[in-house]
Amino acid sequence: MGKSMRMRAQAVGVGVLLMALALDVFAASQVKSVRLWRAPDNTRLVFDLSGPVQHSLFTLAAPNRLVIDVNGAQLATRLDQLSLSNTPITGVRSAQRTPNDLRVVIDLSAPVTPKSFSLAPNQQYGDRLVIDLYDQGADTAPSLPPTTIADNPAVPVSPTQPAPKLTPPPPPGSKRDIVVAIDAGHGGEDPGALGPKGQHEKNVTLAIAKELQRQISQEKGFRGELVRSGDYFIPLRKRTEIARKKGADLFVSIHADAAPSRSAFGASVFALSDRGATSETARWLADNENRSDLIGGVGSVSLDDKDRMLAGVLLDLSMTASLSSSLNVGQKVLSNVGRVTPLHKRRVEQAGFMVLKSPDIPSILVETGFISNHNESQKLASASHQQALARAITGGVKQFFQQSPPPGTYIAWLRDQGKIAAGPREHIVSSGESLALIAQRYQVGLTALRSANSLKNDTVKVGQVLQIPATALAAQP
Ligand SMILES: [Zn+2]
Repeated sequence: MGKSMRMRAQAVGVGVLLMALALDVFAASQVKSVRLWRAPDNTRLVFDLSGPVQHSLFTLAAPNRLVIDVNGAQLATRLDQLSLSNTPITGVRSAQRTPNDLRVVIDLSAPVTPKSFSLAPNQQYGDRLVIDLYDQGADTAPSLPPTTIADNPAVPVSPTQPAPKLTPPPPPGSKRDIVVAIDAGHGGEDPGALGPKGQHEKNVTLAIAKELQRQISQEKGFRGELVRSGDYFIPLRKRTEIARKKGADLFVSIHADAAPSRSAFGASVFALSDRGATSETARWLADNENRSDLIGGVGSVSLDDKDRMLAGVLLDLSMTASLSSSLNVGQKVLSNVGRVTPLHKRRVEQAGFMVLKSPDIPSILVETGFISNHNESQKLASASHQQALARAITGGVKQFFQQSPPPGTYIAWLRDQGKIAAGPREHIVSSGESLALIAQRYQVGLTALRSANSLKNDTVKVGQVLQIPATALAAQP
């Protein structure tokens, strides 16, 4: 072989090698970073990827480990810098089994139940692989020790048995607290809206929610319960589920959002609408909030048509009563909030927020201001403004429940003792309601209702505020 021939052969060889490398690089996705979030009952690991991957996982015992095989991936970040405190994870190791197959081993101090799924890119993130490690026994209520169950055949052992709904009639003379579930919007890998200086909505909402919880719980007869108590993600539907488990009489979701226009400012209060948003802003914000699940991931498509149809049916059947309560409490909260900060809209707006779709619990969403507005983002970050907002929301919530306390509560008992003035009751007309229907619901005469509101005929408009005559109270048993 002549010298020139050999050189040509070498060049071809290099070319083939380069091509093989190029194919490898093309085939493999990079794990660009790994993030970790701790929730009360689970630990979430998020692998940020440069492209889609296939994966599989299995657990090993003694010692407890979780092995994740990521096919078509290379590690391009460090795993030893994750903060593992307060998690069952004691270490994260990795090995490249082939140039394209990455194995990640998670060392655990306790067994976990893993759940994993891939998420497609969205506005905020690229491809992701999400591994949720559920603490074992985390979701089970205090139960009998296992030995007792095994020894006693009368004790049901099926863990899949549905729990009975916890709504027994209140025992006579009971004076339970009114429970307000407070939902701090976003959390974990879903930061929510971003302020001009990079402020995260999720932090502002948590601070206001915690203050609101403190203030509501200080009121005798009321208890505030946080839906989210730290920096972790909760899917939208799970939020109302948590509220229901806590026995909520009211669901208040706290947000501080962004608008396309930086000059937009002011607080708003939203209730659910079953027929679309009342304003362009409402539509835009609802789209943004509902996107949360796509950012945080719920392991499946969250907005399929079947769900929407079911939601529609539920709304038709049982939404009307709690929708008018939602509008009522929303209006009271809005007018109180209007005393401490400018309002974006003077009336409760209606939009299709996923988080408010809880037909049996009156629910409102409070946009405390626009974090995208320079001035408001500064106010929202200050403790004194957060306290003022919480005070205003507490005031509205109290007014609402003093007028219509749920039976069996301390506040209902107070009212029955004549210890609080019930005051005039208000009803905000929602779509599909007639004056006759409203009169029937409050057990007042149609004539009394007409004259209390100086109505010349029975035509009412959606959003119209009606005074419910006080004679209704005397008529109650
Ligand atoms: Zn938000």
